[in-house]
Amino acid sequence: MSERSCTYPGCTRRLQARGWCGTHYLRWRKWGDPSIVHKAIPVYPSYDPERFWAKVAKGPGCWEWQGRIDDTGYGRCWYAGNHAVAHRVAWVLTNGPIPSGHSGPGRIGVLHHCDNRKCCRPDHLFLGSDKDNALDRDRKGRRTAQRGSSNSGAKLTEEDVRRIRRQYVWRRFGCDKLATEYGVSRVTINRIVRRVAWAHVA
Ligand SMILES: [Zn+2]
Ligand SMILES: [Zn+2]
Repeated sequence: MSERSCTYPGCTRRLQARGWCGTHYLRWRKWGDPSIVHKAIPVYPSYDPERFWAKVAKGPGCWEWQGRIDDTGYGRCWYAGNHAVAHRVAWVLTNGPIPSGHSGPGRIGVLHHCDNRKCCRPDHLFLGSDKDNALDRDRKGRRTAQRGSSNSGAKLTEEDVRRIRRQYVWRRFGCDKLATEYGVSRVTINRIVRRVAWAHVA
């Protein structure tokens, strides 16, 4: 007899309990459904939205989260006693509950039109799948390319400049990658890193 494997469609990991592998079994135990990756976020009537919005810097552009930022660049907050991702909570407080995220390409999540992971501005957010995200990024990619060739970097903020210098020092991104990420030219990034441009920013 060969070793039995998980019965979840497409999963080949070793069977552990109730016909599933460890991962699928844990998801079922936690959420009652082995396909759920992240749980639905409800609206808690007792939660005061002002507590959340007090930590968001509202301005003419993106509204950035002022609290903790995790390693992947997303804002983190406490929401009614649970750890949560800030922009997801912003969505819930504005539009109502988010459905559970199921594994697979159709997974629904709260995505950014602006690509700024710290941003909590409701009209910069949309509910969509990974596929929608890719489409949105394609559209923006074309816009960014146009902007990058004609703009000398005026749309960068001081915070962007600090981040660019940090990322460059860490060798995580060279000039080309940073130029693509920020939608500016390679020359602009080079000038920022060498402190020829934005010299007044520490
Ligand atoms: Zn499995
Ligand atoms: Zn934004």
